[in-house]
Amino acid sequence: MTDSLAPARDILRRVFGHAEFRGLQAAVITEILAGRSAMAVLPTGGGKSLCYQIPAMLRPGVGLVVSPLIALMADQVEGLKQSGVAAERLDSNHSLDERADVWRRAEQGELDLLYLSPEGLMQGATLDRLRRLPLSLAAIDEAHCVSQWGHDFRPEYRMLGRLAEVFPDVPRLAVTATADARTRDDIRAELRLQDSAEFVDSFARPELALAAERKRGQGHARVEELVLARPGRSGVVYAGSRDGTDKLAERLAAVGVPALAYHAGLDRNLRTERLEKFLEADAAVMVATIAFGMGVDKPDVRFVIHADPPASIEAYWQEIGRAGRDGQPAEGITLYGSADMAWALRRTAGREVSEEVRQVQNRKLRQLYGMLDGVSCRAAAVRRYFGEEGVEPCGVCDLCLAPPESIDATVPAQKALAAVHRLGGRFGRGRLIDHLLGKTKDVHDSEAALSTYGVGKEFSPNAWRDLIDQLLFDGLLKEDANDGRPLIGLGDADGVKGVYRGERRVAVRKQPEGADASTRSGRPRKRTREAMAEFTGDDLVLFEALRAWRRDEAHEQHVPPYVIFGDKTLHDIVRLKPRSPAELLLATGVGDSKLQRYGAAVLKVVKDN
Ligand code: ADP
Ligand code: ZN
Repeated sequence: MTDSLAPARDILRRVFGHAEFRGLQAAVITEILAGRSAMAVLPTGGGKSLCYQIPAMLRPGVGLVVSPLIALMADQVEGLKQSGVAAERLDSNHSLDERADVWRRAEQGELDLLYLSPEGLMQGATLDRLRRLPLSLAAIDEAHCVSQWGHDFRPEYRMLGRLAEVFPDVPRLAVTATADARTRDDIRAELRLQDSAEFVDSFARPELALAAERKRGQGHARVEELVLARPGRSGVVYAGSRDGTDKLAERLAAVGVPALAYHAGLDRNLRTERLEKFLEADAAVMVATIAFGMGVDKPDVRFVIHADPPASIEAYWQEIGRAGRDGQPAEGITLYGSADMAWALRRTAGREVSEEVRQVQNRKLRQLYGMLDGVSCRAAAVRRYFGEEGVEPCGVCDLCLAPPESIDATVPAQKALAAVHRLGGRFGRGRLIDHLLGKTKDVHDSEAALSTYGVGKEFSPNAWRDLIDQLLFDGLLKEDANDGRPLIGLGDADGVKGVYRGERRVAVRKQPEGADASTRSGRPRKRTREAMAEFTGDDLVLFEALRAWRRDEAHEQHVPPYVIFGDKTLHDIVRLKPRSPAELLLATGVGDSKLQRYGAAVLKVVKDN
């Protein structure tokens, strides 16, 4: 096995400038080089692309890569060209001449990699032309898009199952970062990979420090506070609606944050312009709906904040996974509320899907909120969700750092449930709390006469709000939308009975001292802060000089800075202070082609600083 991998390792070093394979890369590459199909589930930043890029370069013929988004392909192809790899993409937005040229090069055997959209690939004419070419492999990136159990189902991906018949002798590789066991089975069935090897790496992302907290109100003030505590860094803030992104971006811009809004409702050119600004900036905050996502591989995103919660654990992992792709410490912070959960459940209820699919979707939602509102390690909860066994606590999430104390609230819960029952589910939570506190304005005699009126004076309004949230998350209460004036009613009848009888206990999280949860994850973690200020004195001067050089170079070539060199490479250069090309080659991410392009310039920056 070691021998057969020698040529692959040579490419890894010479072309991509990396010393060793990581994780399961070597195993996946071995499988494809042997001409067999496979499925690989590797974490974000795990180096999925090399798993097909290197075999495509070693095997005869051109390697097809199917990817869902044009932006994603454009970046990958640009990065490959910078490393001296013969890669192109077929894009229906390109001119006929450009496309003819790509075909000509493919037919003359000049290309190692050809990127296509699923629709582009499955067109009859394209398939006919490809059938006449020797193909080294067919890679399906973001393969979870093929499954409706996944979180980003794309009907056009379904067609890709036919690749097995059209190209029976070509090894196929499906790769994705997020798929639970059921989704993995579905991917394999859809893509006819049942008999192929499956490689599933750990989902751990040790560089990510996770946190989550319940929203107070809309949560925008909290988002502002969190972003202001992280100056000079790039981040993504996800909001659930277009309107929400616009408002948040305005709010952040008003306090001096370089924030941009991004959503599908914006003019296409404006979107492209903002995306480029964000990618090229050393520090910018993108406030976006999830329309902004796949394909945004800016490696130096230091935080992702969910102003509204994601749709599932898969979506969560993928969205916060956009932080820290360069392996440097980063943060993922999620704000969530019981109203968000109620809204999401209503949305699945309104979808036209089979009962089975609806059940699965509801379960996924409950698992998401179980993790967000849970009391033990978040990273471990996610990894268990993806089917990992023997998972240890991460040690860096909010719950690992400050395990929440819980207090028994069974008696107050009985009072709240009884009050909801007596009030007949006719009121929202504000009115319910007033009732429990005996503070209802202009209270009607019949309400004041109820045995539950004023029985809850031991709790503050906020404590009641937390308890009601808890009961909603537990399914003991449920919220009825009522056209934006939500009403609270009793939930699961057996559960409610259990609480009345004292057989089922209700525990609530004790809020940290005086903090009211507002400062819990307010400051970036020490680890992150230290990593940010890694360099001091002369090293810092050199690092900044390298960044400035990279910025100019990127600007001139109209590419994002990380296509030139990633932060990790600049860090290595600062540490190594190379004086010769041979020494520069030791930095990760510096291969032959980039050495030729930038070696002299980088060595000069090092010498002059
Ligand atoms: P993903 O799995 O998220 O698609 P990529 O393929 O984009 O990940 O790779 C993520 C980063 O890791 C890239 O910057 C890539 O150059 C780097 N990388 C990939 N393989 C290795 C390796 N064996 N050693 C060091 N860095 C690597
Ligand atoms: Zn943890």
